[in-house]
Amino acid sequence: MIPAEFEYHVAQSVDDAIALMQQHGNDAKFLAGGHSLLPTMKLRMAQPTHLIDLGRITGLSYIREVGDTVTVGAMTTYVTLQRSDIIAQNFALLPEGISEIGDQQVRNRGTIGGSVAHSDPAADTPGMVLALRATIVTRGPDGARTISADNFFKDLFETDLKPGEVITEIRFAKPAPRTGSAYEKLANKASHYAVVGCAAVITQDGSGVCTAASVVITGASVKPTRASAVEAALVGKKLDAATIAEAASHAAHGLEMVADIHGSKEYRAQMATVMPKRAITRAAERA
Ligand SMILES: Cc1cc2nc3c(=O)[nH]c(=O)nc-3n(C[C@H](O)[C@H](O)[C@H](O)COP(=O)(O)OP(=O)(O)OC[C@H]3O[C@@H](n4cnc5c(N)ncnc54)[C@H](O)[C@@H]3O)c2cc1C
Repeated sequence: MIPAEFEYHVAQSVDDAIALMQQHGNDAKFLAGGHSLLPTMKLRMAQPTHLIDLGRITGLSYIREVGDTVTVGAMTTYVTLQRSDIIAQNFALLPEGISEIGDQQVRNRGTIGGSVAHSDPAADTPGMVLALRATIVTRGPDGARTISADNFFKDLFETDLKPGEVITEIRFAKPAPRTGSAYEKLANKASHYAVVGCAAVITQDGSGVCTAASVVITGASVKPTRASAVEAALVGKKLDAATIAEAASHAAHGLEMVADIHGSKEYRAQMATVMPKRAITRAAERA
């Protein structure tokens, strides 16, 4: 459980981090909260020879309202998000989902940018970011980019990040009126990672008809995935229990389930219908 030797660098600014990464190339990694990177280094699944710490860069940790958008700095910790009134007022699923991540120590140190960059298939934040249709803002040797969450999560631990790019910010559009959101997961009892999770964001009109739905399944597959068939089965309908159950029954549609010691493909497929039913029901109640 001791990592291989590495050199530690403190980045003073985002530009400095990018320059250090260019200098040390493929052997270097950015360090945020360290709660995914350091365990993999201790297991020697990752052996970077240089770590570039983003933790001392001022100005990467914030939650701001900017017009119709809420912007969150990449180094904002889970606990800061969990305690934010701006987040609670706009995106109920975020503090709800974050409160179930790991333990207090993980929530104290883990960052939204680190979780999104790492893109662990069993992580909670990527699914919530995707369900909220957020935008990921990056900076790298070729300048800044904005990437929609729909285009960001590519495959198992694989994102649209280019070599040397730093995530600087996550942008969330404020929800339309009568929008509610919720997060549900079947958690691994030891780590609290999602065996299967569901993030749901539901918008209704004045008569209770669903006008927009964003439903994402996590943990069941190699990456967080929009349950498009579920979304389509919700829009245009009044969300009573039967409609929600029928829609949720499509959640496993098109998902290539993973299997491990925590659950078989069949078990995950079954749970992939249970979690959305619960999440959609609560999101609709909040809408
Ligand atoms: C015991 C334990 C239990 C956990 N349980 C859960 C759980 O229930 N649910 C859950 O979702 N997660 C869980 N986690 C993981 C945790 O959420 C991590 O903190 C998170 O996945 C990574 O965020 P970090 O800030 O620690 O990133 P780090 O570990 O520092 O970095 C992770 C990766 O992202 C890269 N990176 C970091 N920041 C940036 C950036 N700004 N730009 C570009 N690349 C970057 C790093 O180079 C590294 O490759 C658990 C972790 C532990 C140790």
